Amino acid sequence: MLTGIVAVFHLWVHLNSTTVALTLLLLVLFLAARWGLRYALATSIAATVAYNYYFLRRLERFTINDPQVWLNIFAFLTVAVVGSRLSERVREEGADARRRQGELEVLYGLSRQLLQTENVPSLLNAISPAIMLVTRADAIVLYLLDGDRRYMAGDGSVIQLDDIALRQLAETLPSPETVTKQARIPLRVGVRPRGLLLINGVSLSAETLEAIAGLISASIDRAQALEDLTRGEAAKESERLRSLMIDSITHELRTPLTAIKAAASTLLLPEPLDHEQQQELLTVINEESDRLNQLVSEAVEMAQLDTQEVHMTFAPASIGALVEKALAHCSSLLNENEVKVDMPTLPAVKADAEYITKVLTNLIENAAKYSPVGTPICISGELRDGMVSVSVADRGMGIDLSEQSLIFERFYRANVPSQQSWGTGMGLAISRAIIEAHHGMLSVTSHLGEGSVFSFTLPVYEG
Ligand code: ADP
Repeated sequence: MLTGIVAVFHLWVHLNSTTVALTLLLLVLFLAARWGLRYALATSIAATVAYNYYFLRRLERFTINDPQVWLNIFAFLTVAVVGSRLSERVREEGADARRRQGELEVLYGLSRQLLQTENVPSLLNAISPAIMLVTRADAIVLYLLDGDRRYMAGDGSVIQLDDIALRQLAETLPSPETVTKQARIPLRVGVRPRGLLLINGVSLSAETLEAIAGLISASIDRAQALEDLTRGEAAKESERLRSLMIDSITHELRTPLTAIKAAASTLLLPEPLDHEQQQELLTVINEESDRLNQLVSEAVEMAQLDTQEVHMTFAPASIGALVEKALAHCSSLLNENEVKVDMPTLPAVKADAEYITKVLTNLIENAAKYSPVGTPICISGELRDGMVSVSVADRGMGIDLSEQSLIFERFYRANVPSQQSWGTGMGLAISRAIIEAHHGMLSVTSHLGEGSVFSFTLPVYEG
């Protein structure tokens, strides 16, 4: 460029020497800004020589004792130094801003990854891979003093520190330090040491390392607090369910017990009763004790399902065969309703045959119980979204929309006329728990006065 400028001004464009000097000054400034001090200095000297030789009074010889030469060289050098300094500072600030932006992105990415996990074991397993992903480090070691635990990501062998060295560093390191491209960050709970994080192969600023340590500690504390909270809530919920259950059972037991007590007291009265009255009271006692018996066994079954104490054997089962079995169980109830079964050939389901028969029996019994004599009950099956879906439909009284979710609660009985009211209100709660244990769903669609369709899904048996 210098040669070009000199050639142009010397051979073709003859302007005064000040214009040439300014052009050369611009060149020096450009080089200082673009390539830094070294190039600008060398060019300054070359420019002074060329200017002196070709343009200064156009003597075509080199003079050293002319004060203008010294002024020239001083101007060129000053421009070179100031220009390069300024541009270097801009470059440094740009690089600094980019580095800070990169580090902020690292912190943001890390906080997003760490705040997604809500239980401590999976969080501890996720920390090292998450840091590795966002910092693009070669290896990460997260060491926790509690239980001498190590969680690694990447090539852990590059971090040649044994547990004793790690423990010592975790206990004594006051603040993050970087030793040969390996960042060592102490982790703390308050002021107490918690562990150490080693990041190999990246250079991050001390503030970012501090922030990473803070983020890790905060996310572990958060997951721990969430776990404690969930545990506390689960204990509270289980306690609430237990007392609800006891309340409901006591309430439900009282009705048959009162009836039995009344019948027995009447039978024991000194005045003799005729045979028919005696039979009637004994029938009450008989039916109410059956009801008591069913109530107690269903309550026990529900409690076992709640606490997952029920042992289910999942095996391939034909839903058609289970429907047949359930129909045989409730044949005595079905005399007055026509039952239509529309069951195409379906793949085998993965189910505990005994429990699913129980669910089907309950749904068919309910359909018979809550629909008028002579109305049909339809049982159908189909394959939908990879699950076998079974429906039991009736043309009965239907269920009010507001009660459709409540009927699956234990002991809840919708407002049914008294002659159909025999029941415990546990059947659907048990059925839903059984279907959910099979990873299926039990739901109802119903219109008051038109009928109801209860449907449940079961997974297809795969090999
Ligand atoms: P139970 O039949 O012993 O009362 P369930 O848990 O089987 O208990 O049913 C709960 C309530 O749901 C019943 O009391 C009834 O009001 C309503 N229900 C169940 N099935 C039907 C149905 N097919 N048609 C109308 N109502 C029904």
